[in-house]
Formats: sequence, C-alpha cells, structure tokens
Amino acid sequence: MALQFFNTYSREVEEFEPRDPAARPISIYTCGPTVYSRAHIGNFRAYIFEDLLQRHLELRGYKVHRVMNITDVDDKTIRGAREAKIPLSKFTAPFKQAFFEDIETLRIKRADEFPAATDQHYVDRMIEMISALISRGLAYQADDKSVYFRINKFPDYGKLAHFDLTQLQSTGRVKHDEYDKEHIGDFALWKAWDEEDGDVAWESPWGPGRPGWHIECSAMATALLGDEIDIHCGGVDNIFPHHEAEIAQSEGVTGKKFVRYWLHCAHLLVDGQKMSKSLGNFYTLPDLLEKGYTGREIRYALMWVHYRAPLNFTWEGMQEARQALIRTDEWLARLREKSRETSVQRSTSNVQRPTQEFEEALDDDLNISAALGFSFEIIRETNRAMDRNELDAASAKAWLDWWKRVNNVLDLETEAEVVIPAEVAQVAKERENARREKNWRKSDELRDRIAALGWDVRDTNDGQKLTLRARSG
Ligand SMILES: [Zn+2]
Repeated sequence: MALQFFNTYSREVEEFEPRDPAARPISIYTCGPTVYSRAHIGNFRAYIFEDLLQRHLELRGYKVHRVMNITDVDDKTIRGAREAKIPLSKFTAPFKQAFFEDIETLRIKRADEFPAATDQHYVDRMIEMISALISRGLAYQADDKSVYFRINKFPDYGKLAHFDLTQLQSTGRVKHDEYDKEHIGDFALWKAWDEEDGDVAWESPWGPGRPGWHIECSAMATALLGDEIDIHCGGVDNIFPHHEAEIAQSEGVTGKKFVRYWLHCAHLLVDGQKMSKSLGNFYTLPDLLEKGYTGREIRYALMWVHYRAPLNFTWEGMQEARQALIRTDEWLARLREKSRETSVQRSTSNVQRPTQEFEEALDDDLNISAALGFSFEIIRETNRAMDRNELDAASAKAWLDWWKRVNNVLDLETEAEVVIPAEVAQVAKERENARREKNWRKSDELRDRIAALGWDVRDTNDGQKLTLRARSG
C-alpha cells in the first residue's frame, strides 16, 4: 500500500505525493505552544502525533524539515506578564524552558527550528506580508487603527473548515472590539497598541502594535519552509479560524497553494470529559510524573489511539501502558538471551522472519493502533515459540533487528536498557552475602557464574552493578 493521509482540506484519504522529495526534504509545519502556562497533556497528544508522523516518514526513507513555532506574544502572555508585573520575555522564558523539558521527557524529536513570534526578523516579515495584503485589497486598516483581513475578497475562505460564510454573517451580534470591522468574520492581522499592552509594541506603517496570532504562523512557515509546504499539522481546534486564516494570508500574498496536506489530531478527553481546570481533570506532564509514571509510559498512553479518533485518558489506561511496556521489556530481554545461544537448533515456528506489517499499518494514515496490535501479536507469538523452544538464535536476532527498526518510530524502549533475569539476580544476591562475610573465594566463583549467564558484575560504592555482556559476534 502506498503511503496515504487523510487531508482535512479534501476530507479524503489521499496518496502522499510530496512536492519534490528527491531534491528537498518533506516540509512540515506544526503549530507550537503558546507559552503563557505549562502545556497540558492534550497539547502533547498533538505533538506526539506529529512526532510519529515525522518518524514514520523517516522510516520510509524521506528526509524531513520540520518547523514548530513558539507563540510568545498574544493576549494571554501579555495578561500574564502584566499580572506578574514583569517584562513579557521574562514571563514567557520559564514556560519555553518547561516546554523543551517536557518534549524531551516524552521523547518527542525536536523540530529543526523553533521560531519565536517576538523575533524582530519575523515581525518584519509579518509587516511585509500585511503590507502586501493591503496593497492587494485583501486587508484594510479600520478606525480602531488595527488591520484586518477582508474575508469577502478571498473566495476560498472557509474551504478548509468546510464552513459556510453566511453562518458568520447571520449571527447578528457584534462584540465591542469587533465594532470597526467590515465583516464580523474579518480577523486581525495587526492589533493596534492599547494601554493593556503596556510596553509590548512594535513599530509599523499603521502605528505601534503587535501582530495577530494567525499571521505569525503564515510568516514563519513561509520564511523557513517556502511558499508551498508539504504538510501542516495541528489540533482540530486549530482548523477554524487559525488554519483557515493561515491559508488566506499566505495564499493572498504568494498566489500559490500554501499546503498540500492538512493533518489534524482529535481531542484528548480525560475520563470521557473535556479537560478543564474547574473539573479537576487538567493534567500537565509533571502532574503525571509526580504520580510515578515515566515519560515513556505517558508517551505510550498518548500515542496508542489513531490520531483522528478522540483519545480518552484514564488511570486504567496508564496502567495498561505500564503493562504493555513491561511485556515489551521482558520480551526484549528474552530475545536477547535467545539470540546469544550458540546451539545449531533450527526454528520450526512460523514467526521466523519479520514482515512489513508494522510499516504498512502506519502507511495507512498512521494507523498506530493497528501497528501496535501487530507488534503485540508478534510478541505473543515469538514468546510462545520460545516457550516451545521453536525459535532459533538467528530468528531471535532477526526480531531484535525488526524491533530496532520499529522502535525508531515508537521510541518506547526502556532507558534502563535491560531487565535483569531472576536467575542472575539470585546469584548476585548470593555474591553480595559472600562479600559481606568476606568470603572472597566464593565471591569470585559467583562472579564466574554470573559471567557464564552473560552478565558482568562491578563492585561500586553503591554495591554491585550488573551489566549485560557485549555480544560476541
Ligand atoms: Zn499556527
């Protein structure tokens, strides 16, 4: 099966045909965090989906160039800074840092670039784009001094969201801050400075002010990835108006099709409900780490449902994630042991050689639940074959190589690297006792026994440390 994705724009599953994969990497733009508070696990569900997308493209031999923006100026960041009585950059800095810590804990690959909206280079670019939109009649400055996009002049507006513009017109209610707009759906490109903004302002041809959120993404995406990009991702809540606006702004300036494939990740629910601070079901990553879960367990729990289906986060789900990873760790330890055997026994099992089923499941619009289902079937079957002594060392090695390949995508292997088999742990314990009794001869004998089991033992200030012997050949 060819690689295919569901494109929000067409509402169809389409074969993936990047612009020019031989000459350039696949360009991916992903909307990043607004750094006014610590990101919650719903945000990370989307980032993990994007990570999976990048890793699968890489597994399939593509090079990827990914950009994720950091929104470090908007109403919320400005309000936060004002309330904390500190400069905006000082207010956002710890949240930026926390974001990078969190993606590392969750093993999310870093994007190639993380442009910040407050970077003067990009502000200049936003001003340039807004000027171009005004000169084309696609934008106007209203009496309130802010600049708005004129959606009536962009006939494709609403196509991504499959949204009928007359719905917007018929609302009848006009909020105070929308008083000066020609159309209720016109969105701000440049927000004129007002007192609430304090010292947050940039100079522009329209007076001091700051960019709107939507233009930030259009400017940074086209500045770093060019006028046409292969894939743009985000959460479903970004579709309208944010991504709709990105299309209008970018295509309004360049006249080219902005994005080939729009991929959107569904919501994360907690215990079947929308996450909210008032319901007490609002979790950040440190909240879960504090409860004793590890980054890879959380990664698994946020990954295992297809990205277009809602993911219901529950504590039972976290326990299942833990169990699934323990099963994987034990299977890997067992396979490694098996792969070191030197007997000439031949496999008689029907799980001798890996297939491409994992990759093919992901080719189908990143069907991770099918890919994981296949992986656990493999774990079950190879375990059964090892129980019956029907799997030889060569097959074990082949499955270890297979795991290495799929783990490039999953990144779920334990950092502890290995699980110490019970037999080795038992001998190590005996040795510890022997050393306490200063029985050095017995200690050395037990060291040899441990070595015969394929492990090395070192004596440190914290006691014995066991490491798996490097494989010979
Ligand atoms: Zn964006």
